[in-house]
Amino acid sequence: MKILVLNAGSSSQKSCFYDLTENLSPEQPAKPLWEARVDWTHHQGFAKVEVETRQGRGWQEEIQTHSRPAIITHLLHTLTDEKNRVIEKLTEIDVVGHRVVHGGETYRESIPITATVKATIARLTALAPAHNPASLEGIEAIEAVLPTVPQVAVFDTAFHSHMPQAAALYPGPYEWFEQGIRRYGFHGISHQYCANRTAQILGKALPALKLITCHLGNGCSLAAISQGRSIDTTMGFTPLDGLMMGSRSGSVDPGILIHLLRQKTYTADQLDQMLNQASGLKGISGISSDMRQVSEAAATGNNRAKLALDMYIHRLRSGIGAMLTSLGGLDALVFTAGVGENSALIRAAACEAFAFLGLKLDAEKNQQRPIDQDIATTDSAIRVVVVHTQEDWAIAQECWKLMQT
Ligand code: ADP
Repeated sequence: MKILVLNAGSSSQKSCFYDLTENLSPEQPAKPLWEARVDWTHHQGFAKVEVETRQGRGWQEEIQTHSRPAIITHLLHTLTDEKNRVIEKLTEIDVVGHRVVHGGETYRESIPITATVKATIARLTALAPAHNPASLEGIEAIEAVLPTVPQVAVFDTAFHSHMPQAAALYPGPYEWFEQGIRRYGFHGISHQYCANRTAQILGKALPALKLITCHLGNGCSLAAISQGRSIDTTMGFTPLDGLMMGSRSGSVDPGILIHLLRQKTYTADQLDQMLNQASGLKGISGISSDMRQVSEAAATGNNRAKLALDMYIHRLRSGIGAMLTSLGGLDALVFTAGVGENSALIRAAACEAFAFLGLKLDAEKNQQRPIDQDIATTDSAIRVVVVHTQEDWAIAQECWKLMQT
C-alpha cells in the first residue's frame, strides 16, 4: 500500500511517502521512500524546500510563494519527475493521511475524510487557528490533483479524548465545559506511538502498562497512559498549558494576565505573542528557545541560562509527579522528541527526583545516545525508555488500518 503523509505546521509542511508492500509488518516502523520539509520562516515570502529520497538523492530549493497548495502540488511532482522517479504515476498513491491538530469533542479516532469531516475541521478552526486551516489546505490540494484518492484525518487530540472529566475539565464556571472550554491535550499521535513502541521494546502488552510519556520538543507535554489510553495530560485547551517549553510559558497564574491587562493595555495579540513566543527557555534565558544553546550557556556559567534550565527541570518533575498520582503507579517513564531523545542531562535530572520510588537510571546507557532503548538499570523498579517519535509513520499506520476495514 502506497501512503502519502502530510503533516502541516503553522509555518511548515512535512511530508513522507511510504510503500508498505515492502514492509509486511506495519507494526514495525518503516523508513519513508521520500521525505520533504518546507519551512516558511527562513526567508520572508519564500518557502525553503528540502527533499530526500531513500535512494540517497537530496536537494534544497527556495520557491517564492506563501501558498501551501502550490507547494504541495510542487512536492507531488517531485515524486514522479524524471530525476527522482519514486513512483511512475501519482495515481499509484493508495491513500493520503493528514495530521490534523484539533478534532475537538467530535473525533476520538482517525477517520476517512468526507465533506462533513472537512466542514467539522473547518468549524474547529476557532480552537486551532494556526493549524486546522493548514490541514484543510493540504486536503484540498490533494483533492485538486488526485480527486479519487481516499484521504484520512489523524487527530492530535484523539488519543486524549477518553480522559476522565475530572482531568479534562477546568474548574471555572460549568458553562465553560458546555461551551467546549476544556482540556483537549495535544501531541496525541506522538504519545500514542511512544506508548505502543515502549510496549514493544519492553516485550509487554500495552494494556498491562502504566506509562508516563514525556514529549519534550519545542512544545512539551506529558501524558499519563493506563490500559493503552491517555488518562491525563499537561497541555490543555490550547498547546500553551502545562510544562515550560522552548518559547512558550506553559501554565502561569491566570491572575498575571488580569494584572497585565489592567496595568498595561495589552491586546490579545500582544499577550499571545508574549506567552507563545517570548517565554519559556527563551524568555528566561534571553538566549534561545533551543535547549542545546541554553544548556551550553548554563554550563559556561550564564546565570539566566542556568535559571531557565532549573525552572524547566522543576516544572518537568512537578508534571511527572502529577501524572504519577493520576496513574497510581508507574511501569515506565518514556522520553521522546528533540530534548527527550537527545538531552542526557534533562533525562538524568528528571529521573533523579524519582529515585525514592526505586527508579534507577543507568548513567552510562543514558549518555550513549540511546534510541528505542530501555536505559534503566536491571534492578530499577521503573523502566526508563527513550523512543524516537515517528508521528508520520504513526499516521501511515492509521491509514493502513482504516484501509483494511
Ligand atoms: P518540534 O517540537 O518542533 O518537532 P523537536 O522535537 O525537533 O521540535 O525538538 C526541538 C528541541 O530539541 C530544541 O529545543 C532543540 O534544542 C532540542 N534538541 C535537539 N537536539 C538536541 C541535543 N542534542 N541536546 C539537547 N537538546 C536538543
